[in-house]
Amino acid sequence: MDNITALGGDVYEIDTRMAGYSGITAGYLILGDRPCLVETGTSTSAPIVRDSLAALGVGPDDLATVVVTHIHLDHAGGVGDIARFFPSAEVVVHEKGARHLADPTRLMASAKMVWGDRLDTLFGELSPTEASRIRALGDTGAIDLGAGRTLSSHYSPGHAKHHVGLIDSATGDLYVGDAAGVYLPETGDLRPATPPPDFDLRTALDSIALFGDLQPQRLLFSHYGPVDDVTTTLERSAEELRVWVDLTKQAHSAGMDLDHAVAMVRDRTRERYAALRADPEIAEQFELLSGAPSNVAGILHWLGKENL
Ligand SMILES: [Zn+2]
Repeated sequence: MDNITALGGDVYEIDTRMAGYSGITAGYLILGDRPCLVETGTSTSAPIVRDSLAALGVGPDDLATVVVTHIHLDHAGGVGDIARFFPSAEVVVHEKGARHLADPTRLMASAKMVWGDRLDTLFGELSPTEASRIRALGDTGAIDLGAGRTLSSHYSPGHAKHHVGLIDSATGDLYVGDAAGVYLPETGDLRPATPPPDFDLRTALDSIALFGDLQPQRLLFSHYGPVDDVTTTLERSAEELRVWVDLTKQAHSAGMDLDHAVAMVRDRTRERYAALRADPEIAEQFELLSGAPSNVAGILHWLGKENL
């Protein structure tokens, strides 16, 4: 299938094609004795993911583990469907996200508030997973990939309070989820992802520092793909957070409402991103994954909590 890319080390990138877009949402399959899927993509992506795994030789009873970096619907919306397609797979998630995978009612209700009518076309419906199949991770945890290979999880809040990074003992690949921002391979742009209600600058920066301490060989972004230049990229992730927070603070101090703050921050950051100058289609995808309205709203929400 043309949505599968071999990355070496028995790792395969799967374009999960959120809402039909190419190149914006990645899942990863780590093959071996105990195949492991990292990120399911959305519910509407689940058939594509199932067919991709089949093309890689992973049938219904072969998948050992499904792990998600966090429970936002572009990462975990397909968990219930994938769990049904692969009945032997254990579902692994941070403990703060586990109950939402077992009972998605509240998660779906809040997603409906954020996305409204676009919820169905963008994400579809997260279906529940039996609690007995879910394993909750604490601050750290381990997934057995077979043959002595391990995927270790590290709690990394900031983007979301239920976020983990995952590092592969065999390759040094670090699955960063959204904790290091959103990377666009077409242009090399990197933007922060600071949505409400969980965004917190200090924990986000701590998580990026933790990622550096893990000394990964490569970063695997959920949006989108592999990046080899680890140190520079993580420094950039931290810098992007500071820029967006500083500008949003300025807008806040000037008493701007959300719409004016978004317009100001969008305008003042535009120069930083080649994608916004190059291709309106790519710019649209950026806006979908780390849109200025969502980023600015998340930072303002955090500033509100800070000032309590
Ligand atoms: Zn995401």
